[in-house]
Amino acid sequence: LVAKSQSNQNTIVHLSDQVAIGGQKIVMIGGPCTVESLTQMETVARHLQFAPVQALRGGVYKPRTSPYAFQGMGIEGLEILATVSRRYNMPVVTEVMAIAQIEEIAAYADMLQIGSRNMQNFDLLKAVGQANKPVLLKRGLAATIEEFVMAAEYIVSHGNPNVVLCERGIRSFDSYTRNVLDLGAVVALKQITHLPVIVDPSHAAGKRELIADLSRGAIACGADGLIIECHPHPEQSVSDARQALTLDDMVRLAESVKPVAEAI
Ligand code: PEP
Ligand code: MN
Repeated sequence: LVAKSQSNQNTIVHLSDQVAIGGQKIVMIGGPCTVESLTQMETVARHLQFAPVQALRGGVYKPRTSPYAFQGMGIEGLEILATVSRRYNMPVVTEVMAIAQIEEIAAYADMLQIGSRNMQNFDLLKAVGQANKPVLLKRGLAATIEEFVMAAEYIVSHGNPNVVLCERGIRSFDSYTRNVLDLGAVVALKQITHLPVIVDPSHAAGKRELIADLSRGAIACGADGLIIECHPHPEQSVSDARQALTLDDMVRLAESVKPVAEAI
């Protein structure tokens, strides 16, 4: 179902009346790794609303490596996301980790993120396949392109055609970068599927100083958008502080990808 058909028609996924991924325009999604407070999310939205950043991100259920690390604000975080989304007219995406969370998250968010660690959680994929919300499917930590495509197939075959693929780096031997951003996969996915493809250079690089160049590279490779972590005080982020951009750098980055998008 997700394979590119002869008609070459690409899927466009609508997050709101104004924001759609997969059309002519590049979509930029910005926000912190983790929702920490209303003030934090207000500051982010206020800063990004007039920049070429159309949507917000922020985790409220967090897949942390350590069980002792902050696990997210839960329902309180969802309320913050919904408030800020309404106030600043920006759709929001947040991660769903379990089937039991889908209904609750769908009541507050505009897009359901399936994180890397759950890319092959087939029961969860089937369940978001039955949800009436767009899905952002992130590539597994060590998933092949074929496995990634089949994960999307699970969602679409269960009734939800609104899937956006996200390349976020894969595991390799080099620890200098957190993961290896696979731009070859972006090119391939655009060729073999009709789904929109976006890139998360934040989790790929793991270091803020690499993100702007990787972003422009991703757009040059045909990505339909970017999802990038940024924070009012990056060094104070409760998670992924090392890769968080300042809000000013996020705005600058969003401006800088526009000419690249226009050139291709
Ligand atoms: C995230 O986007 O916050 C996240 C945890 O990403 P990933 O699943 O790609 O590691
Ligand atoms: Mn993160």
